[in-house]
Amino acid sequence: MKIHEYQAKELFRKYGVPVPAGGMATTPAEAVRRARKLPGLPAVVKAQVHAGGRGKGGGVRHAATVAEVEKRAAEILGMTLITPQTGPAGRIVRKILVEQNQAIDRELYLAILPDRASARIMIMASTAGGMDIEKQAATDPDKIVSVTVDPRPGLQPSDCREMANGLGLPPVVNEQFISLLERLYLLFVECDCGLVEINPLVVTGNETLIALDAKVEIDDNALFRQPALAALRDPAQEDPLEAAAAAANLNYIKLDGNVGIMVNGAGLAMATMDLIKNVGAEPANFLDVGGGASAEMVEKGLQIILADPNVKGILINIFGGILRCDVLAAGVVEAARKNEITVPMVVRLAGTNATEGKKILADSGLNLIIATDLSDAARKIVKKVKNGSNA
Ligand code: ADP
Ligand code: MG
Repeated sequence: MKIHEYQAKELFRKYGVPVPAGGMATTPAEAVRRARKLPGLPAVVKAQVHAGGRGKGGGVRHAATVAEVEKRAAEILGMTLITPQTGPAGRIVRKILVEQNQAIDRELYLAILPDRASARIMIMASTAGGMDIEKQAATDPDKIVSVTVDPRPGLQPSDCREMANGLGLPPVVNEQFISLLERLYLLFVECDCGLVEINPLVVTGNETLIALDAKVEIDDNALFRQPALAALRDPAQEDPLEAAAAAANLNYIKLDGNVGIMVNGAGLAMATMDLIKNVGAEPANFLDVGGGASAEMVEKGLQIILADPNVKGILINIFGGILRCDVLAAGVVEAARKNEITVPMVVRLAGTNATEGKKILADSGLNLIIATDLSDAARKIVKKVKNGSNA
C-alpha cells in the first residue's frame, strides 16, 4: 500500500529522519495558514498523488511569498497531474504539501527495500539524486552503492560505513548520513515496509542532510498488524476497478491487453495468461475469483471485467473444486442478465459439476462459446477478439 509524501514525512519526523518544516492542505486558505507557520519563506507547494515525477509534471512549485503560496495552491489543487508515472489519464490533485524551501547543494538517492533473491534487506544509494534510478542503473551502474543487510542481527555499523564511504561524503555529512540511515532502517522494519525511498536526499548550503522527497510503501500482508498505517490508505488514489475488486474480495490487477480473463486460483490465472500470450494476444487483466467464490462474487468479477473499455472478449476458465461449476455458471448467467454483454465470451469448465454447469449455460439462451479444453478456449477467444466480432 502506498501512502502520500506528507504522510511519509510525518513518519520520518516520528523516527527522527530530518525533513523540511511543512504540512498538508486541501484548500488555498489552509495552504496560507500552513505557510504562515513555516519558520521562513520561500516555500514549495507540492501536489500529493501516489506517483513520482511530480516535479516534471508541474506538481512541485516554488512560492516566494504567502500570496504566492495561495496562488500556487489554487493552481495545483484540482488539477489533473500527468507525470511519467501516472499514465496519460493523470491523477486529480486533492491535497498539497506546503513546506519550507531548502537551498540544495548536492542531491543524493537513498532507498531500502527487500531483496527477495538473498532474503535480506537491501540499502541502495547514489550520488546522482533527483535522477531516475532505473535509468541510472542502466547507464551509470558504477555510481550506485549498495549493501544487503541480514535482518536477524539487523543493520551493522560496518554496513553504514560501507554506504557512507561509497558515497564519498564530506566528514560532517558522513555522521548525519549514518544516523539517518539507522533511523530509516528502524522505520523500514518496524512499519513493515516494502519500500522506503528518498529521492532526493539533499545536502543543503550549510551542510545539513535533509529528505526533500519521501516515498513509503507498506507490505499489504502486514496491514493487519499496522492499523495506524492501514488508516492512511487513500482510496481516491487507487484504480477504481482495483478498489472495487478489493472491496468484493477479488484478486484483480488491470493489465494492458484486450482479453479479459476470469479464473479460479492464481496458478490457473498465470497459466491462462501464458496461453493467451502464446496464441498471440494480450490479457486485459488478472482476475482470480478464489477457491471458494460465490455466484455473487462471479457476477461482481464479470461486472469489473466488463467495466474496462479495453476488453474486447472474455475468457472464463474454471476448474471446479470448492467453487462448483454450476455455481459459477449461475453467476455468469445472472451477470449476463443484469449487464449487457457486448463482447464475445468463451467458457471452459472442468471438474466438480462441470456437466451441470455447461447445461445451465446452454439452457440460458446466452450467446456463449463453450470450449472443450484450455488450448481450445484460448484459440477461440483470440480468434473472436482478432475478428472484432460478437458473432
Ligand atoms: P517528484 O519525485 O515526484 O518529482 P520531489 O519531491 O522529488 O517530487 O520534488 C521534485 C524536485 O523539486 C526535487 O528534486 C527538488 O529539486 C525540488 N524540491 C522538492 N521539495 C523541495 C523543497 N522543500 N525545497 C527545495 N526544492 C524542493
Ligand atoms: Mg522525488
